Amino acid sequence: MILILGCTVSGLGQTLPPDNPFATESTLPYHMPPFDRIKDAHFRPALEAGMAEQRKEVEAIDHNPAPPTFENTVLAFEKSGQLLDRVSSTFSNLNGSNSDPEILKIASEMAPKRSAHRDAIYLDPVLFARFDSLYQKRASLNLDPESLQLLEYTYKEFLRAGAKLSEAEKTRLRQLNEQIASAQTQFQQNVLKATKDAAVVVENESDLDGLSSEQIGAAAEAAKARGLQGKWVITLQNTTTQPALQQLRNRALRERIYKASINRGVGGQYDNTAVVAQIVKLRAEKAALLGYPDFAAYNLTAETAGNPRAVNEMLARIVPAALANARKEAADIQKLIDQQSGKFKLEPWDWSFYAEQVRKTRFGFDQSEVRPYFEMNHVLQDGVFYAAQVLYGLNFKERHDLPVYQADVRVFEVTNADGSPVGLFLGDYYSRDNKRGGAWMSEYVGQSRLFNTRPVVVNNLNIPKPPQGQPTLLTFDEVRTMFHEFGHAMHGLLSDANYPSLSGTNVPRDFVEFPSQYNEMWAREPIVLAHYARHYQTGAPMPQALLDKVLAAEKFGQGFSTTEYVSAAMLDQAWHEIPAAQAPTADKVMAFETAALDKDGFARSPVPPRYHSAYFSHAFTGGYAAGYYAYIWSEVLARDVEQWFHSHGGLQRANGEYLKAKILSRGRTSDPALLFQQFYGGPPNIGPLLQHRGLTSGTSGASGGGAGL
Ligand SMILES: [Zn+2]
Repeated sequence: MILILGCTVSGLGQTLPPDNPFATESTLPYHMPPFDRIKDAHFRPALEAGMAEQRKEVEAIDHNPAPPTFENTVLAFEKSGQLLDRVSSTFSNLNGSNSDPEILKIASEMAPKRSAHRDAIYLDPVLFARFDSLYQKRASLNLDPESLQLLEYTYKEFLRAGAKLSEAEKTRLRQLNEQIASAQTQFQQNVLKATKDAAVVVENESDLDGLSSEQIGAAAEAAKARGLQGKWVITLQNTTTQPALQQLRNRALRERIYKASINRGVGGQYDNTAVVAQIVKLRAEKAALLGYPDFAAYNLTAETAGNPRAVNEMLARIVPAALANARKEAADIQKLIDQQSGKFKLEPWDWSFYAEQVRKTRFGFDQSEVRPYFEMNHVLQDGVFYAAQVLYGLNFKERHDLPVYQADVRVFEVTNADGSPVGLFLGDYYSRDNKRGGAWMSEYVGQSRLFNTRPVVVNNLNIPKPPQGQPTLLTFDEVRTMFHEFGHAMHGLLSDANYPSLSGTNVPRDFVEFPSQYNEMWAREPIVLAHYARHYQTGAPMPQALLDKVLAAEKFGQGFSTTEYVSAAMLDQAWHEIPAAQAPTADKVMAFETAALDKDGFARSPVPPRYHSAYFSHAFTGGYAAGYYAYIWSEVLARDVEQWFHSHGGLQRANGEYLKAKILSRGRTSDPALLFQQFYGGPPNIGPLLQHRGLTSGTSGASGGGAGL
């Protein structure tokens, strides 16, 4: 028995005052955080006390005189850090969705401390020795499959963190980690500054023809903010392609914006080529220190793909069809340019402008026609919840009695068909100044039988809030995003695992986007659509002709978007498949990029990669290094499951229950790739993804020399 655990925090090195709401477990239903009592001032002491408590807990495991057992080592370690988990889940959630200057300050102050805390645990030789002895005799421990999985998973985490290195190597690893972290921060700051710096100044308002009056006003404001009174400034976003290119009629201005975008971080004050060279070399050295040929090989051991070859093969299979379709789209656009007597050859800065015209003539509808059929609350209750009710027998009841961190946040209690509790679902749908961009799901409380906890999950979106009294009318894109994030929520809510480390969405990155991308299918399934797409005033269903156009338009432009994504994913891989000795010097960085794109077949592609190296934050600032492929990797699984549903009768309880039993409830209690195979009855099949993206017709993969992009 693990007496040290579950102790109160008094008597430890850092004492947390009892009036700190994190000092004890929340007494609210489902241990939902007591948002009405949590103040910014509570975070720092609770985080410090949480780290101190976990250090004590780990020391107690280390100093246990009894020989290592599953209970006194693996389980004791799994139970450690509860206070830290409790405060960090609330802190990181609020840091993302409802921050303030104090929270941001605490976040940057705590980041290095948290990282050192993690290093102290995973490089602790005594703790690792206990895990190692258990791992070596794991077959004779008579563990149930999930306990064995916990031992194996945690052991691998130790190895990946460097637990087997000598003391000298560990010192070198700590140095490398530190240098990598600083270089990544440098890269990110350069991207921010270079992007700001690359904003395009426009002298004449007439050059802005094509933008709306609001956009022109915003450009004038942006100029004013930079002390350029009477001029206009087009600011850039992080991707290669810029939104203004879709609307601007002035071709010379489009070219200026495009070139400003792709030249960010190459030379000049915020040059990132030297930083790219440095990061690539340091990561390759770290991989070599840990016993891998390159960083991709190291990083992919944590993913279902397992190794770079599997990733490269999958991406290479998509390339021919994506390129063939991109070329077809380019031909359509060139035809339109010729018809309008443009007398010029399509260039990357022309693409969005003419593609939008092709889209309008081909599908002929306006967003203002469809939005009245997509009122947010209808979409949520009669679409998103409806599908989950039919598939998994869930019920959703709004709770107005629980405290929230922001008045717009909605709380729903989720129950099974028999009334038994499932968890809480929080919906935070509107955008705010203090919320980061994009859409995401996260957990406040994770499911585990060990702690007897049921999940409290949240979906965050950034839907513009309408004026008081007006309905929230969505685009189809926003509808699909609601279904996507709810797919992640289902993965968290339906979890049924013993151990928190293995529950819910705690799965590899290239698996976690599968339940969410699968759930998007219900947004466009006719029976679900008919249930939620009703006019917010009249209740009339959306006319079939309009519905058909909305669905048909979904496949448009997939040649372009798949090519820009896949070329970036392959570039990310190429950068991380270099041994340290072969890492290019700063002056060779751009040549390396060109050669990598040529080699992968993009030499004559009409489509630029979604990110060029010098502003490719996914690849060079952390999380997605050698991992940008993960989105399409998990989409293969999602489309396979979509096809499986269609060949098994679609929206039915039995089908939903089967998916829940095999995948959605399982977290990573078993190898995720195996879970998929057990559901699907075989390995993933790329066919349905290609079909879904309208990429089945192309077969030509011709490429050759010539200029890179
Ligand atoms: Zn997602």
